[in-house]
Amino acid sequence: MIGAGRNGRTGPGSRKLNSVLPPDHLLRRVDRMLDLNGLREGLADRYSSRGRPSVDPELLIRMVLVGRIYGITSERRLCEEVRYNLAYRWFCRLAPGASVPHHSTLSKNRHGRFREAGVFRTLFEATVQRCIAAGLVGGRDAAIDASFVAADASWQRKMRLADLLDVMDMSSLTRPIREWVADQAVKPMSEAGPPRGAPAALSRTDPASAWSARTVRGRFGYALNLLVDTPSGVTVDVMATPARFASEVDAGRDMMVRSAERFGYRPRRVAADTAYGSGAFLSFVRGQGAVPHIPVLERQRQTGGMFTRDEFRYDRTADRYVCPAGKVLSFKVHDRAIGIRRYRASSVDCGPCALRAKCTRSKFRAVVRLDDEDTRELVRAETRTGLYQRSMRLRRGVERLFADAKSRHGLARLHLRGLRGAEEEFLTGATVLNLLLLARRPGHRVRARRSPPAPVRISPMSSISRGEYAST
Ligand code: SF4
Repeated sequence: MIGAGRNGRTGPGSRKLNSVLPPDHLLRRVDRMLDLNGLREGLADRYSSRGRPSVDPELLIRMVLVGRIYGITSERRLCEEVRYNLAYRWFCRLAPGASVPHHSTLSKNRHGRFREAGVFRTLFEATVQRCIAAGLVGGRDAAIDASFVAADASWQRKMRLADLLDVMDMSSLTRPIREWVADQAVKPMSEAGPPRGAPAALSRTDPASAWSARTVRGRFGYALNLLVDTPSGVTVDVMATPARFASEVDAGRDMMVRSAERFGYRPRRVAADTAYGSGAFLSFVRGQGAVPHIPVLERQRQTGGMFTRDEFRYDRTADRYVCPAGKVLSFKVHDRAIGIRRYRASSVDCGPCALRAKCTRSKFRAVVRLDDEDTRELVRAETRTGLYQRSMRLRRGVERLFADAKSRHGLARLHLRGLRGAEEEFLTGATVLNLLLLARRPGHRVRARRSPPAPVRISPMSSISRGEYAST
């Protein structure tokens, strides 16, 4: 049975506490932005109708928010702090003397019904909708970026994937590895061999994390992926992926599609760093109706000291290249599988050519043109505009969000394990960042605000019961 929602601010002791808390206390300002009344109704079908009443879910969610706002990552410590700290108690609507839930209750709910129902995704999206309603989201410029967050996994627990092949008895593996193997839909390792595209190294503790050498010493971790509206700094979408560049680019794509579907968010310009500068991603951004303000990822200059493709002029009308010696490289084949067109000079021209030593070690020179080359050329031209320089400046604001999330809100290292755990922590972090933006003191410089923001309302929306955006 779902616990009764009690407002512990109405008793005599509570009224005194209410009067003691400064009017512009951070938790008071955040509290004004929150309306979790619909939460109990949205979760009602996940509680048994019989037995002892459960702990009120609003209380647990408020405790999670307190923990994230103040960077308290340990559930045990959070329960202690809520017990002693009067401001935390006020925010959680706990009357003085009322008992604080046991940390295992908090843990069980957040890993169980909250995660299954997608409560944290729903809460985060409610903050985005509120930011949009408050006129904070400009909708013209956006930035995508990812930052490494260490997993709760030691480098000493690293194992080779190949070692799994030798383990015939799957029951001897730790629970996270068994879950990860189940997630991958991997057949018995001894029969199927390593899964396709699987990493070479795994953590025995948290196999969904990725080994990354980006830090001084390699570590296991996840990527905190953000899609941020600039210059407002509103986080429009957030996603957890293993800390691999390819996964981060995929996440950028997914976040743009999801935010367009959920909020109709279609920025005119999208800024990102070179990691997102592949032709495929640039074309995707253009397909979404935005101008990519992203440095193009150039591989054409990796020619070992020979002429780069820049030295060859492309004749668009005749679909051919002309080399520095004025000879023609004609079109040979279109490799659709990898998205390139191949052009080749004649060995008759290259054989006696005086420039051959600088051009090729083969009998003839070949160059390739990517299918996305037109987009890449457009983006290269865009880098010379003032708007591009502005986008690059605005993009730096995302670094501030990463810094805040890590240094103030406890996201320097994850506390929960697995991709679902990382997603949950990132969602609560992004929720808090948006709430703090909404709850800024009056007089704080706010761009494009039309009216005072109304509370973030979490209602019994269908997405709670469907768990549509439950962690992946
Ligand atoms: S080697 Fe061939 S492709 Fe290169 S400059 Fe000479 S003729 Fe042109």
